[in-house]
Parts: sequence; structure tokens; C-alpha cells
Amino acid sequence: MNWITNFVRPKLQAIVGKKEVPDNLWETCNVCGQMLLKRELEKNLFVCKSCDNHFRISAKQRLDLILNPDYSLIDTPEIKIDPLKFKDKKKYSERIKAYQKKCNQHDTILLASGFINQNNVIVAVFDFNFMGGSMGMAAGEAIVKAADCALEKNCPLIIISASGGARMQEGILALMQMPRTIIAIKSLEKKRLPYVSILTDPTTGGVSASFAMLGDIIIAEKGAIIGFAGSRVIEETIKEKLPQNFQKSDYLKEKGMVDIVVHRKNLKISLEKIIRHLSSNLE
Ligand SMILES: [Zn+2]
Repeated sequence: MNWITNFVRPKLQAIVGKKEVPDNLWETCNVCGQMLLKRELEKNLFVCKSCDNHFRISAKQRLDLILNPDYSLIDTPEIKIDPLKFKDKKKYSERIKAYQKKCNQHDTILLASGFINQNNVIVAVFDFNFMGGSMGMAAGEAIVKAADCALEKNCPLIIISASGGARMQEGILALMQMPRTIIAIKSLEKKRLPYVSILTDPTTGGVSASFAMLGDIIIAEKGAIIGFAGSRVIEETIKEKLPQNFQKSDYLKEKGMVDIVVHRKNLKISLEKIIRHLSSNLE
């Protein structure tokens, strides 16, 4: 602080009547290093205009991206927080509360009911900002509820994953969500309701090893990392160098693990076509 910032600037601001310019107007692309104006980045659906890198976005931004604006959020079930009384550097219960405050949501998954143009859908979407999108009991319950809502409304289910895997603070209770969510997804088959899985950056661990890979159609967002274990762990285990694009969405498409790789700007239109096609024989 000096005479200019303490005295001259407030005086000038008082005269001009302008608010201080926020210093967080810019975002740096972590792939090409380009400085991007946040407003422009948002207009471009959070995709770098220089290198096409798809930035990670929140669950709310995902819903806004694919659904018509009049969608409604569905409450996710309440669960008993921290049954194992887990503690590392911080108590798990405190950690959860901090994330709830930061992300303004109950846990990592947001549920919504809405329309993609004319098509009614239920959407469950992970928020990677909430504890790395880790799947614990709350996420498991949310997926089960999402499947129930799709059954009730007789409409397709879309799950958008962005997750580091099972939530270690919940131990075996988190791992149990893998079979639970699979059973929930499988219940849609009886009514022949379509289930579309969208894998975004990153989709790994227990999420990729359960419902995320069971979509009737599996869409991967461009450039997303999708896998089970991290590539460094695999390299150290098999003592081999992995290909450069290993675990990237295009590589998975090439190997038949996903059906299509979609650019974010085409996601809604692609989903509409898929949902319309898959729903054509629904009663
Ligand atoms: Zn870039």
C-alpha cells in the first residue's frame, strides 16, 4: 500500500463512480497456457479457443449446458454422514461440511428432471469440485434415486460422470455403492428405458468400474481421461511405457470402450438424437 493506492485511487473512484476492476477476470488454460478472458471462456462453453481444451465445469453448469432452462432439481436422499468416524488430517465430517459450503450442495451429485428439447429426461451429474467427485453413500443413494425417478416418469436416464472413484473416507461402504448402482441401472432394462452414460474429465476408479461403463450408449467428452488406475501406477506395475494418448477419450473410442467422442458444443444435439432414437419404442 502506498499513497497512490491509499489516497489517489479512492479519490478517483469516488469521482468516476466506478467499482474496482476485479482481478479474477482471466483464466489460464492448463494445456496451452493461453490467458483467456473468463467471459469469453464462458461464452465458448468453457472450451479453450486456442487449443480446444475442455475445462472441468460444475454440476450446475453441466445441467445448464444440456437441459432446457426450465429444469427442476430433485432432492438427493439424506444419509448418515461419517458412519466410520474417519479422520485423517481433518475429521471427515468437517471436510464434508466445508465442501457443502464451498459447492453449495449436499454431496457430489446433483439430480435434475427436465427436457432436452422435447424429450423428458432424468439427469444425475457429478461435481468434481466436491471431493473430487468421489462416490460414497450419498452418491450411491443419488444414483439409485435417479433410476427410481426415471422408472416413475418412464423416461431415459442420463448420468454425467466426473470422479476420482470411491470415497476412501467411507471404506467398504463406498465400495458397496458399485454393485448397488449397477443393480439400480439394470432395473431400467425391465421397462426398456434408455440409459446414456457421459464420461467427462476425469472418470476413474470405482465409478468407471461400475455404472459409468454400462450405458446403452457411452459418450466420452473430447479430451477426457477415462480409466481405472492412473497411468503412472500402471506403468510402474507392468514396467512398460504407455502410449501418449493412453486413457484419453479418442484412445478409448479406438479400442471400442466408448461409442462416441463428442465436443462439448455438440453435446446437447447429440444427446437429443440419441435419446429420440432410443426412446422411439417406448410406450
Ligand atoms: Zn488451451
